[in-house]
Amino acid sequence: MTNPNRGGGSKAPAVDSDPGRPRISIVGAGLAGVEAALQAAAAGVAVDLWEMRPVRQTPAHQTDRLAELVCSNSFGARQVDRAGGLLKEEMRLLGSQVLAAAEANALPAGGALAVDREAFAAQLTDQVAAHPLIHLRREEARALPEGPAIIASGPLTSEALAGAIAALTGEDQLYFFDALAPIVTFESIDMGKAFRASRYGRGQEDEGDYINCPLDKAAYEAFVAELLAAERSQLRDFEGDTYFEGCLPIEVLASRGTRALAFGPMRPVGLTDPHTGRRPYAVLQLRQDNVAASLYNLVGFQTNLKWGEQERILRLIPGLEQAEFVRLGQMHRNTFIASPRLLDASLASRSRPDLFFAGQITGIEGYAGNAASGLLAGINAARAVMGKDPVVLPRETMLGALCHYVTHCDPERFQPMKANFGLLPPLEHPPRSKQERYQAYADRALASLAAAMDAGGLRSNGPAGGPAARRGDGRQALALPMGGEVQA
Ligand SMILES: Cc1cc2nc3c(=O)[nH]c(=O)nc-3n(C[C@H](O)[C@H](O)[C@H](O)COP(=O)(O)OP(=O)(O)OC[C@H]3O[C@@H](n4cnc5c(N)ncnc54)[C@H](O)[C@@H]3O)c2cc1C
Repeated sequence: MTNPNRGGGSKAPAVDSDPGRPRISIVGAGLAGVEAALQAAAAGVAVDLWEMRPVRQTPAHQTDRLAELVCSNSFGARQVDRAGGLLKEEMRLLGSQVLAAAEANALPAGGALAVDREAFAAQLTDQVAAHPLIHLRREEARALPEGPAIIASGPLTSEALAGAIAALTGEDQLYFFDALAPIVTFESIDMGKAFRASRYGRGQEDEGDYINCPLDKAAYEAFVAELLAAERSQLRDFEGDTYFEGCLPIEVLASRGTRALAFGPMRPVGLTDPHTGRRPYAVLQLRQDNVAASLYNLVGFQTNLKWGEQERILRLIPGLEQAEFVRLGQMHRNTFIASPRLLDASLASRSRPDLFFAGQITGIEGYAGNAASGLLAGINAARAVMGKDPVVLPRETMLGALCHYVTHCDPERFQPMKANFGLLPPLEHPPRSKQERYQAYADRALASLAAAMDAGGLRSNGPAGGPAARRGDGRQALALPMGGEVQA
């Protein structure tokens, strides 16, 4: 499955040795690190790219290839009126090499961009190996590089490097395990059934800080029964099944007794349902998750159920029948830093401006988002060593909004986040239909990206927001920053 020539040592071909050429180090040759290396090299910067596999494997990777997809082979939606599709359109306009490789190795998958994972990783491995400005070092980086650098070592960052990052950031600014509760869009909550209130009326907002979904006894017991019968995701060997007691998955809590949830995260104390005038038997509380109040998380509802099961069972809760989930619950090993405290929106460290972070370690979720953040970090690290100001993308763009979110959200509530329309600033005149609204978000994002690229001197890929971009089917010509052109 793996080609021994692709791993095991630094490549031999003539690597640029111009001592005057600006140089950066990148740690990790996953989705983010590979994209960053190709972007920086395209800008004329020499790159030392560190990848510890196969010398040291991670618990999830299977091969020695760069940009290996550890789980699903899908990069998500293609259509530009979907959050993931818009992100990919922006990546296309910015000249993403990971996206170009994904398009070149795409498989039939309806509206999704699924890839032949082996061909995809092989193409990017070869592209990196053949690049005269990239020196691939098959070694574990056990310390932070001294000069200008990007850390893109991913959710399974090696222990030694995690220790070095913690020494820079402080132990409590580095997280190792995710216990994520699902997030839904506000507009998909049925407020005819749910109600706003804080327990005992003690909230900061007059109308109440929480949205509450009330359950009567029958609805609660039916919910618990489904929860106990539902299929759970397998934890990998390295993840174990020891949970923090204060952070138990709801299905584990429910297995301790039928009323355990009603005495735990679903306790109804201090709440009166204005629709009935009574205290509900149990309550699911939803807490605002973004400044725009377009997203709400399900308080205390971390879960490890399979994703399809989560959607089915959570929609049994009154008020969530039509819920649109922008994130589902997860419990898995995931190393990420406290980006809101540590990074600015260019992805540079606030305390060490020549040190950038990219990929999952920043708290950006999803293959496309990880590669996209590598793209921005690659551009910005190259600009930094060439004495140029970093690029901060507008918040109206999906990538700009993601970078803004992970670097500016409330640090106390920071959890990884993938692309979604709830991150974008509201539209001035939002169309009523959801599809038209999402298209309007996309049009604004692409126009805003085009303007930012002009202002930042970044090479554009044609008329952003024009018909080709809107089509979102990945079939337009890509103008590569290196001056080449491929048909995607
Ligand atoms: C088990 C698991 C399953 C996931 N499944 C999905 C999914 O299905 N879909 C999805 O969108 N996202 C998924 N993710 C989340 C995330 O999108 C992927 O992990 C993605 O690969 C992250 O990209 P990255 O570039 O940040 O990290 P990676 O792709 O993991 O790349 C990081 C690289 O750094 C290397 N490295 C680590 N430490 C060092 C060091 N000290 N020195 C040198 N090299 C080092 C690693 O070997 C690795 O190659 C999953 C995550 C995990 C952990």
